[in-house]
Amino acid sequence: MKKPKIVILGAGYGGLMTTVRLQKQVGVNEADIVLINKNDYHYETTWLHEASAGTLHHDRVRYDIRAVIDRSKVDFVQDTVVEIKKDEKKVILENGEVEYDYLVISLGGEPETFGIQGLKEYAFGITNVNSSRQLREHIEYQFATYNMEAEKNDNRLTIVVGGAGFTGIEFLGELTNRIPELCREYDIDPHKVKILCVEAAPTVLPGFDPELVKYAVSQLERKGVEFLIGTAIKECTPEGIFVAKGDAEPYEIKAETVVWAAGVRGNAIIEKSGFEAMRGRVKVTPELRVPGYEDVFVIGDSSLVINEEINRPYPPTAQISMQQGENVAANIARLVRNKQDLVPFEFDNKGTVCSLGEDDAIGVVFGKKLTGAKASFMKKVIDNRSLFMIGGIGLLLKKGKFNVF
Ligand SMILES: Cc1cc2nc3c(=O)[nH]c(=O)nc-3n(C[C@H](O)[C@H](O)[C@H](O)COP(=O)(O)OP(=O)(O)OC[C@H]3O[C@@H](n4cnc5c(N)ncnc54)[C@H](O)[C@@H]3O)c2cc1C
Repeated sequence: MKKPKIVILGAGYGGLMTTVRLQKQVGVNEADIVLINKNDYHYETTWLHEASAGTLHHDRVRYDIRAVIDRSKVDFVQDTVVEIKKDEKKVILENGEVEYDYLVISLGGEPETFGIQGLKEYAFGITNVNSSRQLREHIEYQFATYNMEAEKNDNRLTIVVGGAGFTGIEFLGELTNRIPELCREYDIDPHKVKILCVEAAPTVLPGFDPELVKYAVSQLERKGVEFLIGTAIKECTPEGIFVAKGDAEPYEIKAETVVWAAGVRGNAIIEKSGFEAMRGRVKVTPELRVPGYEDVFVIGDSSLVINEEINRPYPPTAQISMQQGENVAANIARLVRNKQDLVPFEFDNKGTVCSLGEDDAIGVVFGKKLTGAKASFMKKVIDNRSLFMIGGIGLLLKKGKFNVF
């Protein structure tokens, strides 16, 4: 009998978790497993704010995919997915195509710009190794250029971060640690540097515990961040941004660096392939399948799972992506053995920690509120745990964060 072919798209948190679990749960004689990713490396998306600020080298946030998969069981294809032909059960790649019996879409997300003019063209993102490397280089170039010019352009030393959610705040934490180093290196007066965080919502870190939010804001303000809360970015231009509070007239803030960190939508491949989606995310069945396409699973940032307690989608996180990967691997192993009793996905929220730089953070872990060094310690434990879950002790020793105190 022909072996079923399981194709996994994307080697991020969800895709790699699915792969390493499947390679343990399914024998070589039972199924063929193919993993497709555009790069030959996986990157820790949750560490990209560090690479973007320049507090961690980008090579530290990535590792070779082949080093964590069992190549006798998994065929790794480095290629870019162009489209999924769901009715023909095949995936179109830049350099070919591949058919599947079971498909796992784990292609991650993309920045949501909410149609704000100029953001796509002029703002930087924190989305992958390439964008992080470019942002770090750009900020450093502004500092390096400042003293080269006879007429000083202070806008070179103004950095605007759009969005005070998780990504924006974690980036600000790293940035405020990096700025003093850059000032020393390029002989810049630190008082000339301006860091602004613009957030349209009425609070920083919406949904987080208010006491912890207060702590985060005061720590970042102490390090020089100015928050413009309840203020929306209306337009981004090559010279900066236009913002407005409520219905007030928009005004301009000049800045050579604008970073957009305010929203995630599903991968564009989802809509391009004709899947029904909300902001590019597929509202999946309890077994994480696409309604009407039993052989297609969607996990991670391109999936939408409702938290029944509050009737709202779970925020897209690495934590939920990895748990979905474990669930999908176990269910596909069942299907391969002709068992139809799939286990519905249930998110087990272990807590959230938001970094405020190298040695500071806020978080709620197992229901307990943490700040400062304790929270920062937990953040590193979480970072190390995801390495361990994917690549075991070998990967943890190679890439782990052991500067825990
Ligand atoms: C700065 C930052 C900090 C964060 N901090 C946290 C945190 O502390 N905790 C937390 O839980 N979450 C955090 N998140 C969110 C978390 O990183 C994402 O939710 C998570 O990465 C989603 O996992 P995924 O498997 O869906 O996709 P990803 O991990 O993004 O992986 C997607 C993979 O698909 C590949 N790919 C994309 N398009 C194609 C294509 N067309 N063809 C082939 N391959 C493709 C990519 O190269 C990548 O390897 C953070 C995010 C950011 C940006």
